[in-house]
Amino acid sequence: MIANRSYDCVVIGAGPGGGAAAALVAEQGFSTLLLERDKMPRFHVGESLMPETYWIFERLGILHELDKIGFTRKNGVQFVNSAGKETAPFIFRDVDDRDCSESWHVQRDKFDQLLYETAYNRGATCADETRVLDIDIRKKSPHRLTIKSAGGKEQDISTKVIIDASGQQAMIASRLGLKEYYPDLKKAAIWGYFKGAKRAGGGNPEVTCILHTESKDAWFWYIPLGNETVSVGLVADNDYLLKRGGSPQQTFEEQVKQCVGIKSRLQDAQQVGKLNIAKEFSYRTTQQAGDGWVLVGDAGGFIDPIYSSGVYLALKSAVMAADAVTDGLHKNDISERQLGRWTGDYESGVDLLRRLVRAFYTKEFSFGQFMKAHPRHAGNLTDLLIGRVFEGNAGEIFEDMDPWMEKVRAGEEVPQVTAS
Ligand SMILES: Cc1cc2nc3c(=O)[nH]c(=O)nc-3n(C[C@H](O)[C@H](O)[C@H](O)COP(=O)(O)OP(=O)(O)OC[C@H]3O[C@@H](n4cnc5c(N)ncnc54)[C@H](O)[C@@H]3O)c2cc1C
Repeated sequence: MIANRSYDCVVIGAGPGGGAAAALVAEQGFSTLLLERDKMPRFHVGESLMPETYWIFERLGILHELDKIGFTRKNGVQFVNSAGKETAPFIFRDVDDRDCSESWHVQRDKFDQLLYETAYNRGATCADETRVLDIDIRKKSPHRLTIKSAGGKEQDISTKVIIDASGQQAMIASRLGLKEYYPDLKKAAIWGYFKGAKRAGGGNPEVTCILHTESKDAWFWYIPLGNETVSVGLVADNDYLLKRGGSPQQTFEEQVKQCVGIKSRLQDAQQVGKLNIAKEFSYRTTQQAGDGWVLVGDAGGFIDPIYSSGVYLALKSAVMAADAVTDGLHKNDISERQLGRWTGDYESGVDLLRRLVRAFYTKEFSFGQFMKAHPRHAGNLTDLLIGRVFEGNAGEIFEDMDPWMEKVRAGEEVPQVTAS
């Protein structure tokens, strides 16, 4: 049972978005309730973090905790093409030798628990095994939520502001009909964990690896976690992956055989536990804030696992939303305008990543060829890969990439540049 029945702010969901938002609202002295339906710590997908998460961890004061927990460092990314050719790892520090250029590969149970505890330490009331059953969004705040605690007791809570961080459940967006799926990103994923697998190689074991299968119809992620464990995930069109007959395990094994780089890495490895499946995860929402409510992280949209942007965007939107909420509570303005004041800037940054995702899935497009023809965009591409999309000029890359993409889609010639 939750002792208090009325709050300044209720946060639904204790993923990275919810934990960070609850911490930042609570530390401003506002009564904050963080609700999580599962028992914490809980398992979750999404282990490779973008370097730009650094600034958010710094603001939350948890940079040292990440190393203390023992997460492996993520030094960069490496791409392996459909022919099995391994590109040189792209090491973030080679471009910018500051601490913020490194990131982490995290076990999400431990990582999300850290944020949950951070919220608690900043003054939030944190309740796990407590599910939000219903939300009554009223014309005027306070809004009401019906919740069910671990013991099965139901109770009503009222709050000035709801921050919906319920992930793919997207509670408010689903109820208000705000979810729009991307017709061109109907992907699915099958993933699992392996012991005894080769680390990514190239002398830089701590990179996230992205490997295409021979046919280029699917790709694998390869994320070296701690405890000798590697997370390996297969992503492709939903129909290609889940409607081909056979079990997900069979499909996964079949695709491993089609991917030289993964096959060799998993040669002496043993799968730990069953494989997991995710689908229908790519969507946006047509509105991200209303009077007395705001959406953060996946509850407001998710693009795609490629480039590992999900956790960063959850954290970034949590910070932007929490600042709008606390500012609004201070001045007694929790209107849609106030709570959603950040969403235009946020959407502009997200749009850059979305365009890069679409480039990745354009079979005829080659990043290598494009970059050889347009080396001036090297810095812009780096910025996109590390998540620096809310400042700077990374978007300039599309001045050349969009026309190039139109050409390759239309089957027209693009200049072929050979390595000098
Ligand atoms: C296949 C796949 C691979 C991915 N890989 C990566 C990656 O490598 N790197 C990366 O950065 N991102 C990755 N992501 C994205 C990442 O998983 C998400 O973007 C991220 O977890 C979003 O965080 P969040 O806080 O918004 O939501 P979540 O982490 O999903 O947290 C939402 C929480 O809300 C709780 N909740 C839901 N409904 C209720 C309710 N009714 N009451 C109470 N609590 C509720 C849930 O239990 C959950 O704990 C991947 C996603 C997919 C699908």
